[in-house]
Amino acid sequence: MELTTSADRFRATCSTARQEGSIVGFVPTMGALHQGHGRLVAAARRECGFVALSIFVNPFQFGAGEDFSSYPRRLEQDSAVAASLGCDVLFVPEERSMYPQGRPTVTVDPGPLGERLEGRSRPGHFRGVLTVVAKLLNLAGHGRAYFGEKDAQQLVLVRRMVEDLDIPVEVVAVPVVREIDGLALSSRNVRLSMQEREAAPALFDALTIAAQLARAGERDANVLRAQMARRIGAEPIAKLDYVAIVDDATWEDLVTIEGPARALVAARFGSTRLIDNVLLPWEPSPAAVQNTSSDEERR
Ligand code: AMP
Repeated sequence: MELTTSADRFRATCSTARQEGSIVGFVPTMGALHQGHGRLVAAARRECGFVALSIFVNPFQFGAGEDFSSYPRRLEQDSAVAASLGCDVLFVPEERSMYPQGRPTVTVDPGPLGERLEGRSRPGHFRGVLTVVAKLLNLAGHGRAYFGEKDAQQLVLVRRMVEDLDIPVEVVAVPVVREIDGLALSSRNVRLSMQEREAAPALFDALTIAAQLARAGERDANVLRAQMARRIGAEPIAKLDYVAIVDDATWEDLVTIEGPARALVAARFGSTRLIDNVLLPWEPSPAAVQNTSSDEERR
């Protein structure tokens, strides 16, 4: 595995791999690698002849008072993990080479969805994310890019950016990797105290409750929201940020669940803020199936 801090070198390495006939599979991360990242790399390894991983803790997606300076950084260990996962190149740019002029003045506007949910709690977050992802995708060039469903809002915004800006990359979504008790793997989990770690599966419990209600036929999104909030509220050390039920295609808040929907939750455990989400099980009612088939007949 080649390790480089140079953007030019990274671009050239990916470009050479393409010239030699490989599909370039790119996995952008902020490091402190865990099995969630591992799943992304494994998917890239399966589908692509050449796998590129980047590690960059992007300062402009962290707000004032957020955990940029305390975000876990462990390059030596990450580099060994990346090599063992079968990465071909590890790109670890320095901040001054990514942003030679400091904070960029030309940035990617995430649009209205960038202001909601995570964007409301973390103003400017998605502008920072999309700007750095655009830069990284431009460097890796044509190929596939792998993102986790763990950060579902980020994933949908990256998809929209790639589509709206005609970035020549196929975005591939990878399911959430969880601990045995349901807690989604996250680089931030290492910062949880023992007590916080014990409480943190409340997030997945809340999502499971929403999924069970949906599976049982509950269509009132407010009932799901209330039950999710109640589960988080039952955990004294958890501080709820938001629960949401959105249409999985439009990401509009739902009143009634009438199609694929997503449940999302964010909460603070001490100084650590965690997020999670699941796609809700949904089956069209017999009446809806009938309508769909007659719709099809009309086409
Ligand atoms: P991060 O290093 O946290 O910025 O994450 C880099 C990529 O890994 C993003 O696309 C995340 O969505 C993905 N990722 C992080 N945690 C998980 C997980 N538990 N399961 C699946 N993907 C994940």
